Amino acid sequence: MFNCFIDESSRSIPIIAVVPELWSAWLAEQTKATQQWLQSINFIAKPGSYSLLPGSTGQLQQILLIVNDDADFWTFGLLPNVLPAGHYHIAASDKPKLLEQIALAWGLGAYEFTRYKKSSRPLAQLFIAKKHRSQLMIKLEAIYRVRNLINTPADDMDPAELVENVFEIGKKYHATVTQIVGTDLLTANYPAIYTVGKASCHEPRLVDLRWGDSKHPKLTLVGKGVCFDSGGYNLKSSGNMLAMKKDMGGAANAIGLAEMIMAHQLPVCLRLLIPAVENLVSGNAYKPGDIIQTRHGLTVEVGNTDAEGRLILADALCEADSESPELLIDFATLTGAARGAVGTEISAFFTDQEPLALDIMQHGLQEQDPVWRLPLYKPYQKLLDSKFADLNNCGCSPFAGAIVATLFLRSFISEETTWLHFDFNAYNVTTRPGRPEGGEAMAILAVFSYLASRYAA
Ligand SMILES: [Zn+2]
Repeated sequence: MFNCFIDESSRSIPIIAVVPELWSAWLAEQTKATQQWLQSINFIAKPGSYSLLPGSTGQLQQILLIVNDDADFWTFGLLPNVLPAGHYHIAASDKPKLLEQIALAWGLGAYEFTRYKKSSRPLAQLFIAKKHRSQLMIKLEAIYRVRNLINTPADDMDPAELVENVFEIGKKYHATVTQIVGTDLLTANYPAIYTVGKASCHEPRLVDLRWGDSKHPKLTLVGKGVCFDSGGYNLKSSGNMLAMKKDMGGAANAIGLAEMIMAHQLPVCLRLLIPAVENLVSGNAYKPGDIIQTRHGLTVEVGNTDAEGRLILADALCEADSESPELLIDFATLTGAARGAVGTEISAFFTDQEPLALDIMQHGLQEQDPVWRLPLYKPYQKLLDSKFADLNNCGCSPFAGAIVATLFLRSFISEETTWLHFDFNAYNVTTRPGRPEGGEAMAILAVFSYLASRYAA
């Protein structure tokens, strides 16, 4: 799977990373020929610039890469796309953590979605020592899965196909996986999941994975699995609908994180809940103005059928909460408002636990997986008032949509539960080094790093 790496370094070409501040000093130490070469190609030493450097006989001798700073690893992610086929190694890096991060960026930069179109890229392979591999491969495998899940169009990634991935990782790590499908959701009291998903011929479902020792602290993950979101009768515009195969990005990330947790054998009692549906238009689709039941018992007036993610999450979070997990985390591509606030490259998150928020921010910085906390401002709860039901699913204000959506979810979880909610894009709208345009893992490197330190044996 990861043929962008090699495990022996003989006859590989060194990659030299230089930060802009040390550029002049570095250049002064080079041979006349190298200095002349860089001058003749008008090389400008700004982050992301690179050059193939020839040796005295004209052979490729080394690669020069300008990076932002000493901790910058993402910039290395552009190299697999631009270097000629061959073997490479990172010169003079004695920091194992950085080396592993560079390899991660390399592996992520080498990612291509090849299900429908063959790769045409030269194979540039990076040497990475065996001892640095195991952690790296676990992360790469999980993130490749996340990206593949999101990039696969809805026709090949319907609720059953999404859930199949949960069964797959469950089998690999000896977890117990069950699912509730179609009208059985009503019998089992998941009315909101059923209501949102009933209009599709691909039946709605809830998949439930359990893994680990029940004596360990209970960690429950929930992911929004809307495999396609047309908006329902509040139909999206063409432009907004185009990317809606990615509306299961929360589920994909929750699945990827669960995979990392199980592969690392974190000492937790893990539960993963994925409500998986398609939000479509049909004669039996739910409609604006409907008042629907939820597992919790609260009734919800449907102010907007395009605010479906919070409905399916409400049932799943209510079930998750019923076991009083030590920590409950959900991931969702929930609101455009979160994108409006922090853009597409940062994961917005909410919690009412101060120390937890600081820790998550810290791990985001450390992993360079940017997360940013937004306020869970309770007075906005009034924006969810409904005349005929306990709640409306859609805030009556054009402002603070991400906060209001989080408050909606909060209504289905008990006050005592420690809860972390992520609202992100799960999709790179442009290509950056290591992060090609398309489906993306977001926040899970930060969260995994946090969990690994929290639950360290
Ligand atoms: Zn929607």
